[in-house]
Amino acid sequence: MAESGDAPRADGRRLKPLLFVSNHAGDASVLADYLRSYGYLLVGSMVAEGYAETEQDGGPLLSVVWEPHPGGVTVAWKEKGRVWEHREEILPASFAETDENRRRRMLRLTFHRLLAREPECRDAIQSPPQPWGILTGVRPSKMLQRFIDQGFSDDEIRSIAEKDFGVDPGRSALLLSVCHTQRPHLPALDEGRNRVSLYIGYPFCPSRCSYCSFPGYELKRWRKWQDACHQAMENEIRQVGKAAAEMGFQVETLYFGGGTPTCMPPADMDRLLCAVQESFSIMPQAEWTVEGGRPETLTDEMLSVVASHPVNRICVNPQSMNPETLARIGRQHDAATLREAMARVRDKGWRINCDLILGLPGEGLAEIEYSLREVLALRPDNVTLHGLAIKRGSAYKEQEEGLPERLSGLEMIARSRAALAEAGYIPYYLYRQKDSLAGGENIGYSVPGHECLYNILMIEERQTILGLGTGAGSKFLKPGDWSLENLYNPKDMIQYIDRIEDLIHRKVDKLANLV
Ligand code: SF4
Repeated sequence: MAESGDAPRADGRRLKPLLFVSNHAGDASVLADYLRSYGYLLVGSMVAEGYAETEQDGGPLLSVVWEPHPGGVTVAWKEKGRVWEHREEILPASFAETDENRRRRMLRLTFHRLLAREPECRDAIQSPPQPWGILTGVRPSKMLQRFIDQGFSDDEIRSIAEKDFGVDPGRSALLLSVCHTQRPHLPALDEGRNRVSLYIGYPFCPSRCSYCSFPGYELKRWRKWQDACHQAMENEIRQVGKAAAEMGFQVETLYFGGGTPTCMPPADMDRLLCAVQESFSIMPQAEWTVEGGRPETLTDEMLSVVASHPVNRICVNPQSMNPETLARIGRQHDAATLREAMARVRDKGWRINCDLILGLPGEGLAEIEYSLREVLALRPDNVTLHGLAIKRGSAYKEQEEGLPERLSGLEMIARSRAALAEAGYIPYYLYRQKDSLAGGENIGYSVPGHECLYNILMIEERQTILGLGTGAGSKFLKPGDWSLENLYNPKDMIQYIDRIEDLIHRKVDKLANLV
């Protein structure tokens, strides 16, 4: 058995070992990820008729007993001589699902309800039930959008989310309101088949932020590769753009992200944006977003170059407005630099997206409320609240110190949401990340009518996205059924450069399959 302490979770916190027994083989894999989000690692899994048949030394044990079909399922948590149990009857759901999906859903739901109904069991696990119930996917709104497509009423959808998936009422209301805000922007099944979005991924950053898991390259160490990388990107943009235009595809939104594209020499930014304009067929009202996440890179020269193209939205990311935090997380700007950059961007007439992170080490409610006040005073068009999710590859991976506890994390999320609502912003896209702060979510807020279309289309997966550049993912959406095929460029920049011709041909072939 692994010792607790041997198993760091992706967010750096320690996983506790958990024995598992079920009378149905395969249940461990259904629950493993879900239990991870509660801080447990399945270290032994047996097929047996419940906890009574097993020996254990007082450490926690989870047992599952299925009754003969249709019957029910009982989940029990056993720890230090105490046992808490919950049984659910297997009833048909009010929506279409396969028998196997129902079995998997009921297993998680029964565990969720055990926690919801047994306060002492919650105390033993040291965790309240997850606010998202048994939904573990990145895009919970996609499921609700499908129910809207199928003609379910709002009440029916909320009932499914809360009763069949255990989502808390606040989250189900939030999700439904996000879905309705998105609805006018979502193409119908038979609509806009010739429209695509572009994502251009840029691998370099001026320096590395300590919470970052993006597979990026620090400029000071990797500068000598910049020219070759820009050359490969231009080549990919021009060849894929020409092929897409010849096949009749039109670009509706473009997002130049990364990384920090605005840390490249301005002349190279000009060259790459020219390549986009000259090769792709772009809709006249297309949304063009450039990520200038590091405010210090938004110099007058860079902004003049960007302004010579049809860019109409810029991301300027404060993450926090507290000087101690900015220094601690390795950002190279301060609040004054951010304000100056925002003013310069505003002068160009562009819309502004800002990111804030909740749960940064050393930050509590007071620091977050201060950051929100300062950022909202600048009236960005969009604010995305990210819950800190510490992943492999970040400098925080092995560190727990200074990270907020689950309950204070939930309070931070609730207070931030209230502040944005008070300031007149509406939630318009939402996604979840593994091991995010307090099991919460990332939410994009917008001044009503100023939503970033790319964010909606990318999260809801209702338009083909062509990913160009290092690590960029393409999603080819098959006409008629929303089914997706993914294709990824290598995250390794040198491989990306070496394999560029092959990557271009594969992408063009996939695109041709959609025509
Ligand atoms: S600017 Fe963004 S991508 Fe670059 S290191 Fe910081 S968090 Fe990572």
